[in-house]
Amino acid sequence: MEEEYEALLQFLYLVPVGVVQFAPDGTIGMLNPLCAQLLMPLSSHGGLDNLFDALEQVAPELRNMANNFMATHGTICEGQRVQLSAGIPGKMDARMLSVSLFRLDGKRLMAVITDITQVVKRERQLKQSEAWFNAVLTGVTDYALMSLDKSGRVEAWNQSIARVTGHTERTVTGCELTLFFSPGSITSDRVADRLREADANGWSLDNGWCVRADGSRFWANTMIAPLARDDDMPEEEKGYALIVRDITDKREAGDSVMRASACDFLTGIANRRTFFEAAELELERWRRFPRPLSLIAIDADFFKNINDTWGHAAGDDVLRNLALTLAANVREIDVVARMGGEEFAALLPSTDLDGALRLAERFRVAVEGQRVRSGNDEIGYTVSIGVASMGPGITGVDQLMKLADRSLYAAKKAGRNCIRHQHADHPLPALQAAAPEPASD
Ligand code: GH3
Ligand code: MG
Ligand code: MG
Repeated sequence: MEEEYEALLQFLYLVPVGVVQFAPDGTIGMLNPLCAQLLMPLSSHGGLDNLFDALEQVAPELRNMANNFMATHGTICEGQRVQLSAGIPGKMDARMLSVSLFRLDGKRLMAVITDITQVVKRERQLKQSEAWFNAVLTGVTDYALMSLDKSGRVEAWNQSIARVTGHTERTVTGCELTLFFSPGSITSDRVADRLREADANGWSLDNGWCVRADGSRFWANTMIAPLARDDDMPEEEKGYALIVRDITDKREAGDSVMRASACDFLTGIANRRTFFEAAELELERWRRFPRPLSLIAIDADFFKNINDTWGHAAGDDVLRNLALTLAANVREIDVVARMGGEEFAALLPSTDLDGALRLAERFRVAVEGQRVRSGNDEIGYTVSIGVASMGPGITGVDQLMKLADRSLYAAKKAGRNCIRHQHADHPLPALQAAAPEPASD
């Protein structure tokens, strides 16, 4: 049942029609992202509190229809056409919405809103029974909706923001989106990426740690969608809708299943497949908007000796320690993974070669300076590290990985417990990796 509910909710979020639930006087109880996107141009003060107020200028008849509907539940109107803007003959179609209103019970009404300028037939497929809407919407109040300006700053405060994040009007208005995320889980670069993603795909959906005003964390599903706009609207008036939903419970419920497929069983960090998926996504972002991106490849030194000397179980303890130490030295947005055996990798978004080298050195020193307790033994170990940074010559993750691997090989050649690097703009020839005195690092 829980799963079914979550699936329905997810569907509601991604469904290509606007859905809004509201009170008989028009007060909006909840609406999905697309609905926010469709209605936002009608909002006079940046918020969307009342459906009838929002539609007053373009479809005043809807309020009357709802007020005059006498039955306790049922369809009030179906496919009511609402023209948002005039067309320009031969250049631009008139923007038209289709609005269907339903009465669910004495307290709740529902509107299904479709942009029929471009999408004419979709709403037909999505007409669902009242029971379905009821099931989806009961208790759906755990979301915050806010409008963002073109750079992702919050435009106005509303009750839903306070409900989910505990923030007040003073702390929220005009603030950067990063306010809602826990430090390290997002950067300004990532915010810009997500806005661009929303522009390109129609939305940007992500899960991650958010933080409330009192500092407590919650696992959130965040969705950014561009607000519908006319082609001739000036760029400055561009904006977005952001929906933040607390899904901490769902994360805990789904965690074990997710972990099994995405994480390495021994160390608990991401596995190879997850790493490549994340890296591919990061590279896609890089292609759209190039900025520093680095990768470090790590290999435990003389690991065979550790197994031979202390036993395989002790070797496992060392690998777990390596994963922990690595995770402790990166930010939340970095992706760390066990690539196999005693080989690990970390992908570092928005990090240039210098930054990656600093991180690698910090990690190398941390490993060198500690002992792993395994039974009664205390085991010391070291790592060799290869660092590579993204450049225009690179087209795929495998190529970046290859550069990092080549540097790693150079570090092994140079005596282990050290770092070597390559930049994609100036890759070292393969030969140099084996030279006695590598020029890098
Ligand atoms: P180098 O410094 O050149 O990297 O030498 P090395 O001994 O670390 O490298 P080599 O590739 O020769 O040996 C890797 C060893 O790692 C061999 C393998 O048995 C061990 N190994 C791989 N996976 C695991 C694992 O899950 N647990 C344990 N305990 N050992 C593993
Ligand atoms: Mg190895
Ligand atoms: Mg090794």
